[in-house]
Amino acid sequence: MTSTVVVRAPAKINLFLGCGERREDGFHELTTIYQAVSLYDELAAQPGAGDVTIEVRGDGARAVPDDDDNLAVRAARLLAAHAGVPADVHFVLDKGIPVAGGMAGGSADAAAALVACDALWGTGIPRGVLLELAAELGSDVPFSLHGGTALGTGRGEHLTEVLGHGQYHWVLALADGGLSTPSVYAELDRMRAVGGLHPWGSAERVMSALRAGDAAALGTALSNDLQPAALRLRPELRRTLEAGRELGAVGAVVSGSGPTVAFLVSTGAQAIDLAAALAGMGVCRTVRRAHGPVPGARIRD
Ligand code: ATP
Repeated sequence: MTSTVVVRAPAKINLFLGCGERREDGFHELTTIYQAVSLYDELAAQPGAGDVTIEVRGDGARAVPDDDDNLAVRAARLLAAHAGVPADVHFVLDKGIPVAGGMAGGSADAAAALVACDALWGTGIPRGVLLELAAELGSDVPFSLHGGTALGTGRGEHLTEVLGHGQYHWVLALADGGLSTPSVYAELDRMRAVGGLHPWGSAERVMSALRAGDAAALGTALSNDLQPAALRLRPELRRTLEAGRELGAVGAVVSGSGPTVAFLVSTGAQAIDLAAALAGMGVCRTVRRAHGPVPGARIRD
């Protein structure tokens, strides 16, 4: 019998995020293109003492709930209820994805918990059902399970694989503190109500750059309707974006609801140079390099 299952789940970047109007259920209708990148949370699951418990370690761990509010705990309880088995697991979560950074860290942990508990409990839930449970947990959770590059519609939970070529090199500028996703959407609604915000970018441009495997074309096509709202709430991110562009990034965009800024470069060597230069300029808390696309949440070999 398996005693510990370790699952790695990746962060995401939104290469394109087109945000429609606010729906009656409070969510916004989205068209987004996600890419999973090599920045990971690691979740170890072992038999518990008759309940679901979690211990959180790593970057920003203190800002992560270690009770029933943790998305990994909620995922374990949902899976147990669905499968009709006792909810009994102890998790050790090692955070590598910035907390409240717009990179879907909590969603990654929920996806990791579904994969880990399914293996630990031997429940053998079919992939399609895991994706449905993931959608109940949050809009980005199905993508965290799916990985790669995908088009998300609805709240982002309806996924279609995006075909493309190549590996892309990213430099991520991590900010001090997080940004609450609901507050960024609320700011977007306020800015739209007073007018002057124009739709930005096109999903088709991003998809054709991906089909061509053209990093420079992808760089100029990156766009995010949430960016103006994130910049309004965190004006200092403008300086971060400008610094990366001036240092030669082929693309620069706020990741999801921010405040992480993602820079695209053409080679691994350029990523090292840009990361070092940004770190030296003090325009962000810290810098990470990543590549994508990578697979979704899966058991570590
Ligand atoms: P979103 O997916 O909404 O864009 P995000 O990626 O910006 O979110 P997360 O790291 O998922 O941000 O954290 C959002 C909030 O969710 C945190 O402030 C935290 O309180 C809560 N949270 C619950 N479970 C977790 C978890 N396992 N890891 C990180 N945050 C979690």
